[in-house]
Amino acid sequence: MKLRLDADACEGHGRCYMLAPEIFDEDERGHCRLRREQVPPDLETQARIGVDSCPEGALALDPD
Ligand code: SF4
Repeated sequence: MKLRLDADACEGHGRCYMLAPEIFDEDERGHCRLRREQVPPDLETQARIGVDSCPEGALALDPD
């Protein structure tokens, strides 16, 4: 699976990196930064939780 971040849509709520810290990180403004774009199978559940937690719809998880 591959992650996409729409940086313009991110408002910095921080839910993604609080719920899925192995996948998402924060930048100096508290906005999301992807730790990785390609998600290995063992982290797919965590990635999905982070994507689904975003109230702005700024994150997406696509099949390879
Ligand atoms: S949950 Fe969404 S809006 Fe909040 S930091 Fe993550 S990507 Fe940005």
